[in-house]
Amino acid sequence: MKTPFVTNRQLQEITAVYPTPFHLYDERGIRDCARRIRAAFSWNPGFREYFAVKATPNPQILKLLREEGCGVDCSSLTELMMSDRCGFAGPEIMFSSNDTPAEEFRLADRLGATINLDDLTHVDYLYHTLGRIPETISCRYNPGGVFQLGASQEGFQVMDNPGQAKYGMTRPQLTEAFTRLRDLGAKEFGIHAFLASNTLSNDYYPALARILFTTAVELQRETGCHIGFINLSGGVGIPYRPDQPANDIAVIGEGVRQAYEEILVPAGMGDVALCTEMGRFLLGPYGCLVTRVLHQKHTYKEYIGVDACAANLMRPAIYGAYHHITVMGKEDAPCDHVYDVTGSLCENNDKFAVDRALPQIDIGDLLVIHDTGAHGFAMGYQYNGKLRSAELLLQPDGQVRLIRRAETPDDYFATMVW
Ligand SMILES: *Cc1c(COP(=O)(O)O)cnc(C)c1O
Repeated sequence: MKTPFVTNRQLQEITAVYPTPFHLYDERGIRDCARRIRAAFSWNPGFREYFAVKATPNPQILKLLREEGCGVDCSSLTELMMSDRCGFAGPEIMFSSNDTPAEEFRLADRLGATINLDDLTHVDYLYHTLGRIPETISCRYNPGGVFQLGASQEGFQVMDNPGQAKYGMTRPQLTEAFTRLRDLGAKEFGIHAFLASNTLSNDYYPALARILFTTAVELQRETGCHIGFINLSGGVGIPYRPDQPANDIAVIGEGVRQAYEEILVPAGMGDVALCTEMGRFLLGPYGCLVTRVLHQKHTYKEYIGVDACAANLMRPAIYGAYHHITVMGKEDAPCDHVYDVTGSLCENNDKFAVDRALPQIDIGDLLVIHDTGAHGFAMGYQYNGKLRSAELLLQPDGQVRLIRRAETPDDYFATMVW
């Protein structure tokens, strides 16, 4: 069972004002999660969570995260511009990009962001772009191979393929990059790695921390560069399915603390600040896509047609990702029907659910599609001339605020040449 953060009664009131479909966010849930993250790493004085803007690029969300002490992790020109306009500055901005255009490095530098270099060749590219190297700089590490965690009877609890990923530098390249950056004037160094996505395991960050801490000790000894910060990046997952266990960020923080005490402190590196760049963990559960049932179709299968489509939430279509669905007002009804829940795109993968057991659905019912707070609206697109939906924020006082209006046909036509 998954319970929506909004009641049926609240949703009836909201949909009387704002037409479906829309993404709705839970301010209280977001703030509480940011506080849990901060508390879990409070043992590390320099700790900061840099919210991955790409997960939910909305200024109002960024501003409330800033109130909770978060920075931002940007990966493009417009994400940097948005963060600047939201008041983030200097060390509050991490710039973790790859295949980076020169103008993005220039803006990141102008804002005083911490630049995280994805490749060895970017050292000279950055140097030639800026005419100098910033004093504080970070490099992204890719240890290659296969990353595995927690073998169990069903296979590996977490498994991902850094050796097949386009990101980061090899271990020898890290040494070379640090040496060159040092020679070009860098004074304060960081390392970053992102080895697995949407991990459901309290062991992911601690295992990653061990790899990065050990590497940091070696690098500082080899190159003499002072490592001031280590960035665990994103990858902490959420339980999209109701039967999956959630990560416990307090346990994760404690696991990282143990690695820190064992590896960094004895090496005289107890001054290293930790960074995270969570997106999914911080926002995912605190957003949902609200959509209304338009049609029912009975052919070889039973179809429920809703007013949202994959252009509003792409994950099921591209990854076959599971998103739980609650039929509002029928929370306690037996799930004795089997449906495909579809959008209207001329694409057969435009299905929010396939063969899903749900209560009997009627035309006009409101569906809550859960866990769309991260990588939901953000991955939206305009295929089939579909328009991006509104985004709404449910405040702790129960009031709802429009934090992005829905696109209109004028928005869609605005870039066209007639
Ligand atoms: C996408 C991304 C993140 C956020 O990842 P989540 O899985 O949402 O936590 C963090 N850092 C970088 C560099 C990313 O590309």
